[in-house]
Amino acid sequence: MTDVNLKDTDWQLVINQITDEVKPLLQHGKVADYIPELANVDSNSFGISVSLLDGREYTCGDAQMKFSVQSISKVFSLTKAFSILQDDLWKRVGKEPSGNPFNSLIQLENENGKPRNPFINAGAIVVADCVVSHTEDSLNTIINFIRELAGNKDIKMNHAMFRSEKAFGHRNAALAHFMKSYGNIESDVDEVLDFYFGHCSLSMSCEDVSRAFLFLANHGIHPISKRRYLTASQAKRINSLLLTCGTYDAAGDFAFRVGLPGKSGVGGGIAAIIPGLLSICVWSPGLDKHGNSLTGVKALELFTTKTGISIF
Ligand code: GLN
Repeated sequence: MTDVNLKDTDWQLVINQITDEVKPLLQHGKVADYIPELANVDSNSFGISVSLLDGREYTCGDAQMKFSVQSISKVFSLTKAFSILQDDLWKRVGKEPSGNPFNSLIQLENENGKPRNPFINAGAIVVADCVVSHTEDSLNTIINFIRELAGNKDIKMNHAMFRSEKAFGHRNAALAHFMKSYGNIESDVDEVLDFYFGHCSLSMSCEDVSRAFLFLANHGIHPISKRRYLTASQAKRINSLLLTCGTYDAAGDFAFRVGLPGKSGVGGGIAAIIPGLLSICVWSPGLDKHGNSLTGVKALELFTTKTGISIF
């Protein structure tokens, strides 16, 4: 990063070029439909938003359009749980890549109900349980927390998405009940699942998401409000987990191509950060076979390639 002259980087030009270059890819991804409501989206959409720590923001394409954040929201619930439970959290959820799809049940029995990491669904459900067990009115607490991070009071849950997730969330229910049988879920399973489905069903724009991730690029402190959400060490740990586990069984390929800590969601969004500099969110609903936005990954790869900036 040191041999790049940041002053010379024309951020707007870079993201305009990327938006142009990725257009032919938009048709190649497949919109998720295992949650039926997710399929109600225009697969041609593409948005990109860059938020710099100094307050500058650059957007292109459908950056203001709301999309379903899905697993990106796991980062916010993890932040909440980590700040509440501190290192005790790691007694209940691991820190290793799973090498398996995000909704897999396969490792849980061999590993006694302790999920590999907080970003696969099983891990995020344990994290959800931690938040539910330690906060009043948990869903509103997390929604308000996310609104504060994004600086946008209008962030809301999509109720049709929530109902769709709940009606078709059999795998997540199986994961939660299975972990309950190992004693790794403390609260009522339905309450935990409602919280989990609730935060996954939030609608946010690229602009909202990139702003909400700024604190992770700034050692746990939001650069605008100056509020501290995590210690510098905790922010480092979350970023490390994003690099190794944030894009599931494609985390190796993502790290290789993009070179940034990032978190994807099956709604087609991907958020990533460059420590000390910026956060970025891309959105395009067509997914690759791992459940990551096909065009989104390419756009991030182009971003680090064109600017010459990554964490390496
Ligand atoms: N809510 C989704 C699920 O539980 C989140 C998955 C994702 O975005 N990868 O299946």
